[in-house]
Amino acid sequence: VGRQAHRTVVDLEASILAKNDERAARNRAWLAGRETLAINLMSAPGAGKTTLLERTIHDLAKEQQLFVIEGDQATANDGERIRDAGAPVVQVNTGTGCHLDAEMVARGLNELKPPARSLVIIENVGNLVCPALFDLGETAKVAILSVTEGDDKPIKYPHMFRAAALILINKIDLLPHVDFSVEKAVGRAREVNPGVEVMTLSARTGEGLAAWYGWLAARRAATGATMGL
Ligand code: MG
Ligand code: ZN
Repeated sequence: VGRQAHRTVVDLEASILAKNDERAARNRAWLAGRETLAINLMSAPGAGKTTLLERTIHDLAKEQQLFVIEGDQATANDGERIRDAGAPVVQVNTGTGCHLDAEMVARGLNELKPPARSLVIIENVGNLVCPALFDLGETAKVAILSVTEGDDKPIKYPHMFRAAALILINKIDLLPHVDFSVEKAVGRAREVNPGVEVMTLSARTGEGLAAWYGWLAARRAATGATMGL
């Protein structure tokens, strides 16, 4: 593209992002007013977001109801899995879009109507690129990296791993069968995001999930504390 056309594209993107940020700020204020924790769960396709959610809904059923906004380009398959697991869910299909934006989440929250002090999990569209750019108004971003991917993903997709408050390395039950170095992956994650918390787990076998549940509980407590609970 020519210089002028390129400039127009850049301006358009800047204006889309500015509009999104404004909507995200309103989502954040709405969530804060309801003392509700919202986690934006992001990964490449197939890293295990939905499986982790199913397991989390099941394991926390007695202590904590989860509310889910489920993002996919097409189908209600994952939304149905979440409903079957026992959580209220709103499925958002983005069509040609490859990420959720703050407006979609606002509509999702409006439909879900989580009561005060809820835990809302937003499963983003599987994509390591633009979900990192779109603030949804969430309390925290969590990135999943599975061991069937490359252990260099954090440096290939630095924006995603830099934005994450927590990185989950999933499918560790498969480690004996793949060339994935947890040590290298953690090192690379901290190259782009020094001090980031990293947990290893298997949503399939349940190994390591206690730490994830502990993290969620601590974040919920902190959300209440900042609201003066
Ligand atoms: Mg999914
Ligand atoms: Zn996108």
